[in-house]
Amino acid sequence: MSTLTGDDTAGGPAREGASPDGLDPLRDVIRRHELAAKKNLGQNFILDLNLTRRIARAGGPVTGRTVIEIGPGPGGLTRGLLLEGAGRVIAVERDSRCLPALAEISARYPDQLQVHEGDALETDWSALLGSSSGKAVIAANLPYNVATVLLIGWLETEPWPPWWDRMVLMFQKEVAERIVAAPGSKDYGRLSVISQWRSEARIALTLKPEAFTPPPKVASAVVVFTPRPAPQPACSVKALGRVTAAAFGQRRKMLRASLKTLVPNPEELLDAAGIGSTLRAEQVPVRDFAKLALVYERSIAGR
Ligand code: SAM
Repeated sequence: MSTLTGDDTAGGPAREGASPDGLDPLRDVIRRHELAAKKNLGQNFILDLNLTRRIARAGGPVTGRTVIEIGPGPGGLTRGLLLEGAGRVIAVERDSRCLPALAEISARYPDQLQVHEGDALETDWSALLGSSSGKAVIAANLPYNVATVLLIGWLETEPWPPWWDRMVLMFQKEVAERIVAAPGSKDYGRLSVISQWRSEARIALTLKPEAFTPPPKVASAVVVFTPRPAPQPACSVKALGRVTAAAFGQRRKMLRASLKTLVPNPEELLDAAGIGSTLRAEQVPVRDFAKLALVYERSIAGR
């Protein structure tokens, strides 16, 4: 893992008028299209194409791949993905002011960039992908205010394995740390459990605030997710959600107390799952949460 400011990547930032794709430097694009960043849309842009290319390939090559991008904005990561050889980028952007800038990229890469104006929270991803063959990569410098909601939606996709086979996502560093946290750490919680049960998640890069324009208040990190083909134990995602909500809802309490919001007699459930009833949620490994969810699911099916 490395930490980047946006100026210390190999080759440094793109020189004025010398973008490798022949398009204008992003600073000029933003100026020309008057794309003053809007805080309510989580707009912190990356202007260094060396950096966006590095993010694009953080999870492995994207050559020839179909990529779904959320929030392309003026197109920094979009251009990074295309420069790295993505076959097709399908981008969803809520801010209509960005569309003319994105149209310039489409003109440079005919048939490779499709831009949809809309809200990612309301997007039907399978419909967006259409009949495209094979699985997609999801790549985004996510707007911080909707980042975890989008992530949970992708992780809870049914049926599983999902329509994506890799996600390369930028979060606030604090969120990234919660995603990859191990049991026993203060960051370990519901987001860690769902992320790690359904995928292998790792932090590939961390970025200082200066890598963005305007700089956010906190550092950011890119997390790469690879879906597990058959998460084990094979509980339902719904049951896992209910069990972790109860356990982490009162994370200071022992499970025999916190799970009372789920079932009247948690000790029976914990016994059946082979989990100590005096443990606290943050001490329970992902696998045991899934085991508990499986036992819970069976117990309610048998009622
Ligand atoms: N990809 C660009 C980059 O890396 O420079 C911009 C990233 S910026 C952090 C987040 C982008 O998401 C902005 O362009 C913003 O307009 C867009 N956005 C915010 N909320 C959105 C939503 N609900 N659906 C789609 N796009 C959204």
